[in-house]
Amino acid sequence: MRNRRAGILAAVVAAALAAVVACTGPSSRPVAFEPSRPQTAHPVATTRTPQHTAPPPAVRMVRWHGPVEELFVHPLVLEPRLAFTSDTLGVGFQHYFVTALEFQRILDQLWQKGWTLVDIHKAAAGTVRVPAGRRPLILEEDDVNYYRYFQGRGLATRLVLADGQVRAQLPDGRLSDQDVVPMIEAEIAEHPEFSADGAKGVLGLTGYEGFFGEHHPKRAAVQHRLRALVHWLQGRGWTIASHSWGHIDFTTNSLSSIEWDTGQWKAIADPIGLHTDVLIYPFGGRPSDEVVRYLVRAGYTIQQDIDDVPRTVHRDGATILSRRHVDGYAFEVPAQQRAFYDVATVRDPNRPR
Ligand SMILES: [Zn+2]
Repeated sequence: MRNRRAGILAAVVAAALAAVVACTGPSSRPVAFEPSRPQTAHPVATTRTPQHTAPPPAVRMVRWHGPVEELFVHPLVLEPRLAFTSDTLGVGFQHYFVTALEFQRILDQLWQKGWTLVDIHKAAAGTVRVPAGRRPLILEEDDVNYYRYFQGRGLATRLVLADGQVRAQLPDGRLSDQDVVPMIEAEIAEHPEFSADGAKGVLGLTGYEGFFGEHHPKRAAVQHRLRALVHWLQGRGWTIASHSWGHIDFTTNSLSSIEWDTGQWKAIADPIGLHTDVLIYPFGGRPSDEVVRYLVRAGYTIQQDIDDVPRTVHRDGATILSRRHVDGYAFEVPAQQRAFYDVATVRDPNRPR
């Protein structure tokens, strides 16, 4: 039974990989994006003949004065047939998740439609810059925890740092690049102007099953791995955010239970050297002034809710940014996604109608 399932898994993942690779096409020039000075290197030489072509023009960065759009996804479904079943959990996956194929198509369309990833701190401070002619976007992944309920449903099991790259581990132990972090890294490698000033994305973590799929965060070996992973991510332009420890609703829980929950999250984060000023409200609910002020005192000066407009509110010492969800529910309202992606061409053929 186990072998049979592993075989199916390998076949489906291989098919998904092939589809996504075909979708992105061959990699274009791997020129580093350095906004402050002209690009001179052009390492893709096809012959040994000395080349005296002019360097490509420098990218001109311009200040952005409007609101900054934000989109978020959950961990990617790698095998739709395991995730998108007709039971309650399967319907939940259909509503709240996208597949790796869908995410790759969304990334390509975001690039084609002129979006460029920017740093959330710059967005909160109003100091965003983008390459001239492009628009800023914050891209986020919530619940990067690879919960136990993912098991057997065709998702990855944890994030690992392997040979200097972040990759997703599959249930059979193999490593995959079909995950939000490696896919965004690859998109930027292919299109350097997809990132402004080195920005990547925001990763929101709960704590009740550990971080990044490591379910035993008190073990020394796990803490060692998590510390290296966090160091790599933060050093490469990723922002890690709290999504509360228990995925609690900040609008209904008492202040004392929110304080307890905050302490639980920090008890995992502190030993691995993870400190963050960004908090993502679970369920998108907007808490009371008292709770917002407490969260500011706890260090979360950037807080995030969910809405279908880009909004920045300065309130009780916090900057509160709104984000749009990208999932099966969003796919039901294609007109609202049109500025970012076209639902009809993004939709995975293995997603039930
Ligand atoms: Zn969540």
